[in-house]
Amino acid sequence: MSEKKKTRNITDAEWEVMRVAWATGETTSKEVTAILNEKTEWKSTTVKTLLSRLVDKEMLGTKKSGNKFTYFPLVAERQSIDVLAEELLTKVCSKKVGKVLESIIQESVLSFTDIDQLEAVLKEKRQSAVETVPCNCIPGQCQCHLIR
Ligand SMILES: [Zn+2]
Repeated sequence: MSEKKKTRNITDAEWEVMRVAWATGETTSKEVTAILNEKTEWKSTTVKTLLSRLVDKEMLGTKKSGNKFTYFPLVAERQSIDVLAEELLTKVCSKKVGKVLESIIQESVLSFTDIDQLEAVLKEKRQSAVETVPCNCIPGQCQCHLIR
């Protein structure tokens, strides 16, 4: 497992905490607990555990200011979103990636700017498009191998 994968492999709960760190720039366990109280019932001990795991995973840095610890992101949100998307797409046969992207677009509310950017990306993608996407699965995990 690469260094990149190891440090970015975070749980859904850890992701919730990271979002607070990205939004605030620098935060405390008390603040994270208060913010996430809107959608979770995590006790401060739970949040402290998540914060220390994220420090171990090098997603968050920490420093002591006064008598409390503050936490700040070591990884950019955009970069983490890219990894998240990459991880999602490795879960399906590469032949189905186009369909997954189609579903994501279908289910999203998009601005005109978003659509302009997507169209630009697709136009560029057309230059390197292939006739048939090769399957990347092991035999038995998709039907591509059965059809042949
Ligand atoms: Zn396949």
